[in-house]
Amino acid sequence: MRVRALVVHEKNGPYCMEDVELDEPKDNEVLVRNVASGICHTDEFGRSQGVPIALPLVLGHEGAGIVERVGANVDDLKPGDHVGITYAFDNTCPACQAHEPYYCENFNQINFGGVASDGTTRLHQDGHDVSMFFGQSSFATYSVANAASVCKVDDDVDLGIVAPLGCGVQTGAGAMINVAHVDETSAVAVFGCGAVGMSAIMGAAVAGAKVIIAVGGNSKSLALARELGATHTINRKEVDDVPAVVHGICPAGVDVTLDTSGNQYMMVNAIRSLKYHGMFLPVAAAGCIDHFDVGGDIMMPMRTMKGTCEGESDPKTFVPQMVRWYKEGRFPVDKILSFYDFSEIDKALEDTSSGKAIKAVLRISKQ
Ligand SMILES: [Zn+2]
Ligand SMILES: [Zn+2]
Repeated sequence: MRVRALVVHEKNGPYCMEDVELDEPKDNEVLVRNVASGICHTDEFGRSQGVPIALPLVLGHEGAGIVERVGANVDDLKPGDHVGITYAFDNTCPACQAHEPYYCENFNQINFGGVASDGTTRLHQDGHDVSMFFGQSSFATYSVANAASVCKVDDDVDLGIVAPLGCGVQTGAGAMINVAHVDETSAVAVFGCGAVGMSAIMGAAVAGAKVIIAVGGNSKSLALARELGATHTINRKEVDDVPAVVHGICPAGVDVTLDTSGNQYMMVNAIRSLKYHGMFLPVAAAGCIDHFDVGGDIMMPMRTMKGTCEGESDPKTFVPQMVRWYKEGRFPVDKILSFYDFSEIDKALEDTSSGKAIKAVLRISKQ
């Protein structure tokens, strides 16, 4: 079928609204009419070829919409279901079989390889293949995705709210809930108050963490962090020694820190804000630390530094769970969202980089 999509033809090139051909879903796939799609930093990583993906390419990996058709082997979804589409995995390797799809052996190949789990793409233009992204390419009016990555949600919720749960929000909230196992006894500090950091704050809050410290450089964002559940805020531009301020709040240090910036000073401060045997979670894809004192900062204090991706969530349960928390008023994700028409992606990106928008979501079709 012919669909409208934002096609990228060259490295760092513009998003071009064009017609592309979308294949019918295969036996284990579904066709989704996209109602909305979040925009994530990783889309820009793809557009700039931070990972080399064959061009042309349709980005977008936080799709949400309504199921139109399902393949012959799909038994947990039906036409009319409201769904969020999350990251891709093959659903067959040992990790996927153990219900740990975030450790899928083929994670990189499927999400960043331009193809679906069978090694072929569903998108074409003028007789040529067009690369997919995260097995969904949600910057399009329709997506075909593996049913394993398509999460049914309650149908009384705006799908514009559901869209960003599939990657950015899940990454932050899941890191706190599924990776750090935060509970009422926990003290955490979140470094960086963008979409993922705000989601980590909401995740820690819904888990009942007793201390949630937001560290950022923008007073407006820090005020919003408080609304989302932060108990303390630190404006890093106004203090010389962030770890000292954290230790002033929690003398032994905090149990968990998470950094979304990839900035070496932020990351070192995040590590030094930890108590003994605390856990540091870096979630920025890029970032290096010069002259890192592994002995003094990690080994002797017996701290853990754990890379984590997609909040290590089992999306079929975690995405609907976040929707329920939102409906209960415990997970106010709407407060970090700004909505744009499908044709306004350039404005959405501009507002995101200027800090005007924390998390931009494209409205693609009517719900
Ligand atoms: Zn797998
Ligand atoms: Zn993402």
